[in-house]
Amino acid sequence: MPELPEVETIRRDLVPLLRGRTVRDAWISPNAPRLAQLMTPEAFCRGLRGRRIEDVGRRGKYLLIHLDGGLTWIVHLRMTGRLQHAREGCPDDRHLRAKFKLDDGGWLCFIDMRKFGTMWLVDDVDLVTGKLGPEPLDETFDVAAFHGSLKRRSTAIKAVLLDQTVLAGVGNIYADESLFRAGIDPRRAANRISRPAAGRLHEAIVEVLLEAVGDRGSSFQDYVDARGEAGYYHLKVRVFRRTDEPCLVCGTAIRRVKVGGRSTHFCPGCQKR
Ligand SMILES: [Zn+2]
Repeated sequence: MPELPEVETIRRDLVPLLRGRTVRDAWISPNAPRLAQLMTPEAFCRGLRGRRIEDVGRRGKYLLIHLDGGLTWIVHLRMTGRLQHAREGCPDDRHLRAKFKLDDGGWLCFIDMRKFGTMWLVDDVDLVTGKLGPEPLDETFDVAAFHGSLKRRSTAIKAVLLDQTVLAGVGNIYADESLFRAGIDPRRAANRISRPAAGRLHEAIVEVLLEAVGDRGSSFQDYVDARGEAGYYHLKVRVFRRTDEPCLVCGTAIRRVKVGGRSTHFCPGCQKR
């Protein structure tokens, strides 16, 4: 599932391709009735036609395509969504759920095998992203405030990192990698994490996300960038999906457990309870 580094990679790819373009036409497949949120697919497409794209932003895992007239086209890729730019029309793919024709002849294509992807067309972005926690790569991601939000939660730290109201954009891959780097057991109660450990975790989250953005994200399964190409960070992960393989630091076999219903990978040698 695309997390912050993957969505940020797509955003950076799309900025030069979309900025200043006008949406000439929009089409949503009849087999994707839940793609457009808060309005019918027809109203969504009608609302997009003729709009000029001013910029492409991001908030957590949400892509924000800012349009003229103060409108924002928000895209969430969920599990398997791909937002790809194509020069000569969208691929003939049975999972193509929507396509958008631009005034320079290019296309934006939304391909989504599992169909969990969602889009909104809103005046007020907060309607969709208002409850998100701080952006981990912004100055707003403050160690003291982060430690404070951990103090208020007694659930496992891994589950808290996935809570988008605590921190925006971190998912399963980068939560496991950050906890490994900080030497924290993912099952540990968030409110039992000391101030120094919270500081290490804060630093690890920023480092891991920046490295993954630098490597254009991780392509364990479906993820590709806006040009249809895979990222590289999955080649560098230290624990995620390395179950039973030796830890790169201490040699202990990496373990996989369920935390809050999600597969969680950690090194029992480096991440003590
Ligand atoms: Zn280890």
